[in-house]
Amino acid sequence: MVADTAHTDHEAIIIGGGQAGLATAYYLRRAGVDFLILDNQLAPGGAWQQYWPTLTLFSTAGFSNLPGMMMPTYGQDEYPPADHVVDYFTRYEQRYDFPVERPVQVESVSWEDGVYTVSSAERSWTAPNVVSATGIWSAPHTPSYPGALTGTFWHAANYPGPATFRGTKVAVVGGGNSGAQIAAELSEVAEVIWYTRDTPKWMPEDIDGRDLFHRARQRARNIQRGGEDPGTGELGEIVMVPQVRRARDEGRLVPTPMFDSVDEVDADHLIWCTGFDPALGHLSAVLDGREPKQPGLYLVGYGDWTGPGSATILGVGPYAKATATEIAQSR
Ligand code: FAD
Repeated sequence: MVADTAHTDHEAIIIGGGQAGLATAYYLRRAGVDFLILDNQLAPGGAWQQYWPTLTLFSTAGFSNLPGMMMPTYGQDEYPPADHVVDYFTRYEQRYDFPVERPVQVESVSWEDGVYTVSSAERSWTAPNVVSATGIWSAPHTPSYPGALTGTFWHAANYPGPATFRGTKVAVVGGGNSGAQIAAELSEVAEVIWYTRDTPKWMPEDIDGRDLFHRARQRARNIQRGGEDPGTGELGEIVMVPQVRRARDEGRLVPTPMFDSVDEVDADHLIWCTGFDPALGHLSAVLDGREPKQPGLYLVGYGDWTGPGSATILGVGPYAKATATEIAQSR
């Protein structure tokens, strides 16, 4: 079936204006493809606008660049906070003058005769290509446990920073980076019980985002050459950012085995740091699991399952480029 693309609104529509959407826009622009970005936020910055106020990157600015424009340095080569990233993405979007419509909440995507229709509650747009770059932040994952808590439930997705918890007793659940970082900073102002399913896997202290990017790149190259994905091996999971290292060394970050029922938790607050799912609800009609049913639909970012490192600022570049190249070559 040959698509009647002469009559579509654009050659490509990007859903999501975070780093994955912006990096794809950069390469589509370079390839001369006409595109539009639809984003449901009020302002540029993607999910970085919503991260908790004390969050910092796990690498320096020099290892957090989008294609074409460097992230400005921060302090004496320190790890920048989230608002530095928002500022950088805002300038990035302005510099390249990308066509972005916001706020637009894409509700659904359908496909017929080679043309995708992307719909919000108010209107629709058509294109032969759709890039979904909607990230994970809007789909927090909370496991189901029996029992009740007399205190308040939170998720890392709505964690407001430590001030709210000062002087209270807080259960932090999750042995990954967000669990470790939130437990570490709360342990400075509150009594923390840090629940983890497994023994936390600390990374060596000399490893930060820079090494993770190098490793992700090596894994991607290996896969590209037809080799097996060696995974992250014995590297560990928790990046030793200064606050986490301090809390662990001072004995404030001690794991407690996971509970079987919330009834066992004696705390004023419980914060689930149990990760996120990809925000793919708008694609239910055009995906089979996580696989596009038809050509012309691309998923960029999200997590390692779209490519090693693809969910990071620096790491998304090669995947954005490959997607834009494929779209340009399909014309
Ligand atoms: P997002 O930033 O979420 O952008 C997606 C955009 O699409 C958002 O604006 C969203 O609101 C919008 N959207 C979603 N659904 C729709 C819809 N239906 N219609 C329209 N718009 C929609 N990476 C690093 O490189 N360094 C780090 O230090 C680092 N730290 C991290 C710390 C945490 C706690 C987390 C969660 C992630 C971290 N990451 C880090 C990983 C990664 O950089 C972020 O997850 C990043 O936000 C992913 O970018 P994205 O463009 O894929 O998604």
